[in-house]
Amino acid sequence: MNKMLSGGCLCGRVKFSVRDEFKTFLQCHCKQCQQLTGSAFASNIFTHPGNIEWLCGESNITVYEHPIREFSKFFCNRCGSGLPFINKTKTSLIVPAGSLNEAFTIQPQANIFTSEEASWFRAGMQAKCFSGGRSHTPATRF
Ligand SMILES: [Zn+2]
Ligand SMILES: [Zn+2]
Repeated sequence: MNKMLSGGCLCGRVKFSVRDEFKTFLQCHCKQCQQLTGSAFASNIFTHPGNIEWLCGESNITVYEHPIREFSKFFCNRCGSGLPFINKTKTSLIVPAGSLNEAFTIQPQANIFTSEEASWFRAGMQAKCFSGGRSHTPATRF
């Protein structure tokens, strides 16, 4: 049996556990994922639909379904954190990688929709690194 992993939202209302039995790990750079995450790409891990146990707060989840594309986001209605959901075709449970609290075995396998990549993504990967920060800005001046 693979390891159980805990996950949840930032404010702690919603908690779940999943087993480290992941099939696919994709980083999606499409414009919709940029908007939904507020960041350069979404990191989504795919597993079988039965691989989740909700521990608390499931009633605090809000669902957004895109009207045209096969595209959903499940998020905590207090803190906005992305949470796992079953896709429309019910073939996979999609787990936002950042919602997991512990290390897991799968690594990203592909970057998809890179034709829509954020214009600042490559530069961001080359930018200076700081191991810590203060209020999400580095303590040092650039
Ligand atoms: Zn929350
Ligand atoms: Zn996307």
